[in-house]
Amino acid sequence: MKNCPVCSEDFVQIEYEGEAVLRCPKCRGSFLPGYRLEIIRHRQLRKTDELKAEAQSEFSHDTKDKIRCPRCHGKMEKRPIDGRYPSLTLDHCRNCDWIWLDGGELPLAQLLFETSARNAVQRDMQKRAAELEASPERKAEFEKNLAALPDDLPGASGDARQTLVADALDLAFGIILRS
Ligand SMILES: [Zn+2]
Ligand SMILES: [Zn+2]
Repeated sequence: MKNCPVCSEDFVQIEYEGEAVLRCPKCRGSFLPGYRLEIIRHRQLRKTDELKAEAQSEFSHDTKDKIRCPRCHGKMEKRPIDGRYPSLTLDHCRNCDWIWLDGGELPLAQLLFETSARNAVQRDMQKRAAELEASPERKAEFEKNLAALPDDLPGASGDARQTLVADALDLAFGIILRS
């Protein structure tokens, strides 16, 4: 059995969001292949509140010392968990492509990924809105498309109407961006 690179405790294998992860029962750190971290980051099985609670209860410190890979015993490299916070790091073994995350850093990595994905959507919407403002013709066309939507759809539930409105907005933006 491999040992924790921080406190030498034996790892236990746990299932985290459907993926096998080696966990240190003492410091709560996680050791896993890089591709599995990507899968976990993209998977949003739990609510933001649950991730926050887990990150807060399990986070104790961010290891600053160079540590050795529990698989090949080579030196691991420090890498930012998220480009926006360069001082918060994970440890990566280039040889094995496995990653060490201190306690609480796995849910934190998920939260950071979620917020950056949400920011990207927001930036995209702002860009589209700015494009509309910049072109009176495009704006007029967009508003015409929007006005063409029926106010009330007989038999359509709220959700179905939401979907219809969303589809119409997508269509309108599609037309605007192509023209
Ligand atoms: Zn440990
Ligand atoms: Zn290694």
